[in-house]
Amino acid sequence: MGREPFSSPAAAPAAATMQQQPVPCTEVRIAVPDLDPWREGNSGLPGVWSFAADVPGPHLVVIALMHGNEIAGAHVLASWLREGLRPLRGRLSLVFANLGAFARFDPSDPTASRFVDEDMNRVWSAELLDGGGSTRSPSAELRRARALRPVIDAADMVLDLHSMLWPSDPLILSGATERGARLALAVGIPPLVVADQGHASGPRLIDYPRFADPRGAATAILVEAGQHWAPETVEVAAACARSLLHLLGLVAAPARKEKASPLRPAGPPRLARVTHAVTAAGSGFTFLREFRGGEVIARRNTLIALDGEEEIRTPYDDCLLVMPSPRVMRGHTAVRLARFVAPPPSAGPGDLAGSGL
Ligand SMILES: [Zn+2]
Repeated sequence: MGREPFSSPAAAPAAATMQQQPVPCTEVRIAVPDLDPWREGNSGLPGVWSFAADVPGPHLVVIALMHGNEIAGAHVLASWLREGLRPLRGRLSLVFANLGAFARFDPSDPTASRFVDEDMNRVWSAELLDGGGSTRSPSAELRRARALRPVIDAADMVLDLHSMLWPSDPLILSGATERGARLALAVGIPPLVVADQGHASGPRLIDYPRFADPRGAATAILVEAGQHWAPETVEVAAACARSLLHLLGLVAAPARKEKASPLRPAGPPRLARVTHAVTAAGSGFTFLREFRGGEVIARRNTLIALDGEEEIRTPYDDCLLVMPSPRVMRGHTAVRLARFVAPPPSAGPGDLAGSGL
């Protein structure tokens, strides 16, 4: 592990400041996608494309640009539109969500265009979308979410394509429901599935009531496909989305070449459930070393961070670190801790194929 032991809390802050603070990778190594041909949409809503097959089947909605600077997913949807991809059954809708923020994307300052007014992936509650009694004027993101709501309300399945600022293994967030975990495990790319309850700062699309209701059927998952602006992230997002298309029977089975893709993991996917969200109480929150998202800390009670004088230790063996944020502001989530669990029963593509959607 290579870290210094901390004998007393008093010694810790000085030692912690000796640690080198990691910097996020802000080098944009992929082209900015040209979305001009796709801005208008074909469904009466800007940036929304929807294609129905003659054969009945599920309605899959694939979303890119929920965050305006996460351009990898937009490459995937733009390439499908260029290729003229159409579903063999059911309906396929492709959504460029936050076009307003994307319009401000500047490769020389790529973190600035995550959103215009507020995080669009924290507004997905019926209350906010209904606007019940609120007197504040809605943000650009809330207006857009309201416009997109009929598409979301008509979806059987949603895949929301995201990427990450800090180094981390790709993962799928399945929300809190068993059916979310089953779908994510059946997709299998990337092979790490994290079940969680969302953020205190507001509901994500995958937390929207019709997806989060344990008695419901509609299912939404979110893929964090890799670092925002790395070419591999586009590949992972594309492989994940393709896998879901195959799974739902919207496209034909993959060619042998594709089956042998290095992105297809050798082992079965694994499911971990978030048990703790570590929020920085003070401004001096410091990790003991540079942790990578997806790292598994073998021993219970391992010291991983100091929040002022408070020690943050792993609560169990084989603790998965979910998307640690090395430069965290007070009150924000610094890392989430997850424990590996057995997959829910009847996981697998057969289960979904027989779901009769
Ligand atoms: Zn995102």
